[in-house]
Amino acid sequence: MIYDKQNIFAKILRKEIPCNKVYENDYVLAFHDVNPQKKLHILLIPKGEYLNLDDFNEKATDKEIIEFNKAISHIVKLLKLSNEGYRILSNIGNNGGQEVLHLHYHIFGGEKIGPMVTK
Ligand code: AMP
Repeated sequence: MIYDKQNIFAKILRKEIPCNKVYENDYVLAFHDVNPQKKLHILLIPKGEYLNLDDFNEKATDKEIIEFNKAISHIVKLLKLSNEGYRILSNIGNNGGQEVLHLHYHIFGGEKIGPMVTK
């Protein structure tokens, strides 16, 4: 599958549409999900053009991979989620329910997240 530069997160990265930013550095951007599923629902995306986690791990530099993972803990600290806990999740492909084809982690927190998956 080819990366579509017109996907919504690519537009956010190009600042063609706004986002409610939580954190940004040279490698990542984190912002509030427009349709939060929990009290706190953040999306973390790499700035590079990657479809999903497999594409990222195959093509990204070690530095990009390290920075993407480190950003999770940075955001968690920023939002003081460590003590009460949180959940990260990445939907991949059709069966995973991925809607936006630019790699993203969902970070849920601020309340009990509940069952891991629903039937
Ligand atoms: P996924 O189903 O894993 O691809 O998740 C895509 C997520 O992007 C959903 O939770 C949407 O609510 C969220 N989303 C879509 N458009 C925007 C936007 N413009 N700003 C913030 N979040 C968005």
